[in-house]
Amino acid sequence: MAMHSNQNYSLKSSNSFNIKASCSRIYFPSSLAELQQLPDLSSENFYILGDGSNTLFVESQAPTIIQPKFNGINIVEQDDHFIVTVGAAENWHDLVCFCLDQGIYGLENLALIPGSVGAAPVQNIGAYGVEFADFCQEIQWYEFSSETLHSLTKQACRFAYRDSIFKQERYNKGLITQVTFNFPKAWQANLSYAGLDTLAKKSTAKQVMAQVIALRSSKLPDPKELPNAGSFFKNPIVNDADFAQLQQQYPKIPHYPQKNGEIKLAAGWLIDQAGLKGFRHGDVGVHQQQALVLVNYGSELGAEIISLAKYIQRKVAKKFSVSLIPEVRMITHKGERSFSSLSDLNPIENITVIGDGNSIRGSSDD
Ligand SMILES: Cc1cc2nc3c(=O)[nH]c(=O)nc-3n(C[C@H](O)[C@H](O)[C@H](O)COP(=O)(O)OP(=O)(O)OC[C@H]3O[C@@H](n4cnc5c(N)ncnc54)[C@H](O)[C@@H]3O)c2cc1C
Repeated sequence: MAMHSNQNYSLKSSNSFNIKASCSRIYFPSSLAELQQLPDLSSENFYILGDGSNTLFVESQAPTIIQPKFNGINIVEQDDHFIVTVGAAENWHDLVCFCLDQGIYGLENLALIPGSVGAAPVQNIGAYGVEFADFCQEIQWYEFSSETLHSLTKQACRFAYRDSIFKQERYNKGLITQVTFNFPKAWQANLSYAGLDTLAKKSTAKQVMAQVIALRSSKLPDPKELPNAGSFFKNPIVNDADFAQLQQQYPKIPHYPQKNGEIKLAAGWLIDQAGLKGFRHGDVGVHQQQALVLVNYGSELGAEIISLAKYIQRKVAKKFSVSLIPEVRMITHKGERSFSSLSDLNPIENITVIGDGNSIRGSSDD
């Protein structure tokens, strides 16, 4: 197994925020035998890295990194569906394009989401009314302690909104090597989401994908041009009573009732209404068009993104009494840490945002 063990393996190009970080040990396992050669991780600080598009290195020193390199795509055609098995290191968007080229439909609404296939189940990626879980059949998962591979059914993965068992009970106990999808041949375009509802009902999967790509490209900054990690915060979910109060005060508040009776709010709207869309502080800021996306204009320090995120969290909590929780994973030299446990080394304070968020002046509104 290729392993780098110098004191300075750069991870700058391995995280979409383009933060300067390095690790002293990195492993690239690509087979069961290589997984079994990994050192005992029970006493080691480590992080499993895919393509780093949902990862923020908070410090310049990262822990030991394991970056699975399982590749390959295998298709089995059956009477009424396709079974597609994909290595964890394959690129998600490339998989979407490949499937459509093979006449296998279903993933078109999830086009252009950055990252690896192996990370997709972890937070159950979703966009435009479709989520990873909709087509997942099973996950192959390597357990560190028993040094064996397990097949986990979709039910066993307990997928939920930006959540799965890999963020809960099985967190850091193993890694995903392979994903198996089930795509029914009976396909119907999912055009329920705003932006896709203008398409003709008989649109092909490729037309849907083209529209998704056009919509995403118009709204979201390309991390290669303006480093970012997509939605920084999850959309908060509140109970009925809290929502009623919010709606009374803000009748136009966007909201999405959930199956369990709770209400999902749009984090981007809350940040926008807090006056922070386009806000910039030094070399980091809130994107001009999409308030949910924090962008890096050239900072090398993850801590600056943390200060900005904490500032946004305080402003939104003050205005709406709603707590924003990051979706992005925060990595220190000790491994992953919760956002609340991270200290704000350089708090942004005493700033009033004026107009489009670009002009700022000192004040005491915080
Ligand atoms: C511009 C942009 C747009 C985005 N849009 C969306 C969107 O629409 N919907 C959405 O859901 N997400 C979106 N994201 C977030 C991101 O694309 C997804 O979270 C993606 O799945 C991350 O993949 P990655 O390989 O880069 O993961 P990483 O950032 O490397 O890792 C993310 C998490 O997965 C874990 N992980 C990675 N690989 C494995 C493995 N093989 N086994 C076990 N754990 C693993 C890591 O430990 C970490 O906890 C967006 C990001 C960007 C930059």
